[in-house]
Amino acid sequence: MTEKPVYSRILLKISGEALAGDNGFGIDPEMIKKIAAEISDVVKSTNVEMAVVVGGGNIFRGIAGSAKGMDRGTADYMGMLATVINALALQDAVEKFDIETRVQSAIEMRQIAEPYIRRRAIRHLEKGRVVIFAAGTGNPFFSTDTTAALRAAEISADAILMAKNVDGIYDSDPAVNENAQKHEALSYIDLLNNSLRVMDFTAVSLCMDNKIPLKVFAVKKEGNIKRVLLGEDIGTSVS
Ligand code: UDP
Repeated sequence: MTEKPVYSRILLKISGEALAGDNGFGIDPEMIKKIAAEISDVVKSTNVEMAVVVGGGNIFRGIAGSAKGMDRGTADYMGMLATVINALALQDAVEKFDIETRVQSAIEMRQIAEPYIRRRAIRHLEKGRVVIFAAGTGNPFFSTDTTAALRAAEISADAILMAKNVDGIYDSDPAVNENAQKHEALSYIDLLNNSLRVMDFTAVSLCMDNKIPLKVFAVKKEGNIKRVLLGEDIGTSVS
């Protein structure tokens, strides 16, 4: 039976951190299987068109490389390659659930992924395939959050679903401050004015300019992707 989602086309952003599970580094096979199972369940039960942007912070972050003396551009390309590793892992995991997928890479790697072609990505989505966007924007000095905002605008996604290790946006870091308060709803201007770093400012301004709603929620709790899709108010909404 299909359930009625509140969005028909979404962009799911999965941070590298989320793929690492409790290990904090690399890919946790249980975690990726769990995320893939949820993606499969959501696609099969709601028929939502789903594109995914994966991060790479569980493997390499450009900024960390440059802090240790690497050239920032080179380090960022390494970060983008990290996202390709995650994308292939996610593709493999999702296909185990009999869902068709395509990986599209912003850096050409013909042997392992299609190049990013906007109209082709949209066609895949219309055919019910999960499209995984790899290699970020293809440009150093950007993030995969900005990639999520950019690709969401390009494919006219109804919303960005941001699957994180934390269950929403707080007024201070909940890992440090036990009295941190979770926001239920915010505007993009609030994020900028209060320096709430849920995503970088480039990503925030792209979302704001293009009026893309954002839902931030915890990936660890089973069924959360579907809850958001069915319109439940979990996590934090930004519009
Ligand atoms: N990156 C980049 N350009 C992009 C997207 C990503 O240079 O358009 C690099 C950057 O070095 C970043 C790394 O890829 O640190 C991994 O992405 P990100 O930190 O956004 O991953 P996440 O925090 O979501 O795991």
